[in-house]
Amino acid sequence: MEDADALKNNKKKRRVNLKESSSKSIPETDIAVGVGDIEDFSPQETLTFRASLLQWYYDNQRVLPWRKNQSKKEEEDDVGQEREARAYAVWVSEVMLQQTRVAAVIDYYNRWMEKWPTVHHLARASQDEVNEMWAGLGYYRRARFLLEGAKIIVAGGDFPKSVSTLRSIRGIGDYTAGAIASIAFKEAMPVVDGNVIRVIARLKLISANPKESATVKSFWKLAGQLVDPCRPGDFNQALMELGATLCTPLSPSCSACPVSSQCSALAVSRTCESVQVTDYPTKVEKPRQRSDFSAVCVVEISEGPETQEGAHSKNNKFLLVKRPEEGLLAGLWEFPSVILDGEADLATRRKAMDQYLKKSFKLDAKKNFCITLRENVGEYVHVFSHIRLRMYVELVVLHLKGGVNLLNKKEDKEKITWKLVDGKSIQNMGLTSGVRKVYNMIQKFKQSRPLTNSKIKRKRS
Ligand code: SF4
Repeated sequence: MEDADALKNNKKKRRVNLKESSSKSIPETDIAVGVGDIEDFSPQETLTFRASLLQWYYDNQRVLPWRKNQSKKEEEDDVGQEREARAYAVWVSEVMLQQTRVAAVIDYYNRWMEKWPTVHHLARASQDEVNEMWAGLGYYRRARFLLEGAKIIVAGGDFPKSVSTLRSIRGIGDYTAGAIASIAFKEAMPVVDGNVIRVIARLKLISANPKESATVKSFWKLAGQLVDPCRPGDFNQALMELGATLCTPLSPSCSACPVSSQCSALAVSRTCESVQVTDYPTKVEKPRQRSDFSAVCVVEISEGPETQEGAHSKNNKFLLVKRPEEGLLAGLWEFPSVILDGEADLATRRKAMDQYLKKSFKLDAKKNFCITLRENVGEYVHVFSHIRLRMYVELVVLHLKGGVNLLNKKEDKEKITWKLVDGKSIQNMGLTSGVRKVYNMIQKFKQSRPLTNSKIKRKRS
C-alpha cells in the first residue's frame, strides 16, 4: 500500500493530464491518476485485499433470495443441475438489478421464480406473460432478452458455463456473463458495474472519465487482477456488496471499511483538505434528455345506453393497443397515443387523435360512433433514461353503432394489435408504470366528477 506521503512524492509521475480528458468536472487536485498512469495491483496488495474483503463479506453479507449460503463441502457437492439452477437464479437477479435497487427487485424476483423456477419453465412463457411479470421494473428490453435467451439456452441443451459462451447469448453482456460464470460455475472472471468502478477508483485514486472506453477497459483489467481464483463468485459479490453498502456514492463508511488501509483516496483525503473520497470516481455530466410530447386517449367503448349512465358504466371496455415490436417499450400494451411535434393545444391534440383512430380503427364520428363523453384529464411527465415524455391525457367514451364488431371489421393494413379489456381485468394486468399512471389519472378524474355533475357531450353524424 502507498501511504499519503508516498502518493504526494509520486504526484509528478502520476499527474493527470487534464487536457486528455473530455470531462469538465475532474477534481481540482493534481494528486490523481489518469487513465495512462494507472498502475497494476501488486501481488501483495492483491492477496491482502482478497483476504480482507472476503472475510468481511462472510461476516456481513446481506441475506438475499438469489444468494445461496453454502458450506465448503456443500459447494464441492454442488454439481450439474444445481449449478444450472444457480446460473438461472444469478442471471434473473442480475438482469433485474441493472438500473434497479435491491429493495425494489426482491418481490419481483420471488414472484418470477415462483412462476418460472427453471430456465425450461421460462422458455415456455409468452412475451406477454413475461412483460406482465416485469411491469413496473422498467427497461423492458431486459425482460425480452431474458425470454429470448432462455429459448436459446433450452434449444441448445446446456446452460453455457463460461464468459465466452455466455456472451454469445443476445442480451448477456460482459457484466452478466462474468456474474453467472463466476458465481455459478466458478470461472475466475471479474465483474465491473458502477459499484466496482467506485471502489476501484477510490482505491487507486483514478480521476479519468469512468465512461470512456479506455478507462472502462482499465477497470476490467484491475478487477481481473483482484478476483480470487479459488472463490471468484464470492469475491465478485463481495466487491459489489462493498460498493453497495459501505463505499456508497455520497457518504462512504470508511471507518467500517475492510480495505480502508489500502484506499488511496482515504489516505490522501486525510492529509489534503481539498480532496474528498467522494471526488472519485469523476462525475460525468449526463447527456441532456430529449423532450417528447404525446396525446394519450383512454378510449372506453360503451355498449350501454347513449346516456350519462352509459358513459359511466362499469361494463365499459378499454381499448388497448400493442406497441411495435421494435423500439421504446417494444411489444407492450398502452392506451391509444400519438406522438406530437411539440407542445400542442387541445384542438390540435384532438385532431391528431381523431386522425389516428380513423386511420387505425376506421372510427369516424361522422359515420359509425357517437361520443358520449370527451374530457381533457390532465398532463403527466414520464421520465425515461434519455427522454422526458409529456403525455396529454384525455378520456373518450364511445358508443359504437353496430357494437364492438365494428372494430373487428376494419381492414387492418398496418397490423395494429389491439384488445378490449374490462375495468376489472385492467386493474390486474401488468401495465408499464406510465400506462398505470394514466389509468389512475382517469379513475381519479371520474371520482372527482360524480355522475350527476358530469357534462355529457353528444356528437352525432
Ligand atoms: S476506505 Fe472509504 S472510500 Fe476507500 S474503499 Fe473503503 S469505503 Fe470506499
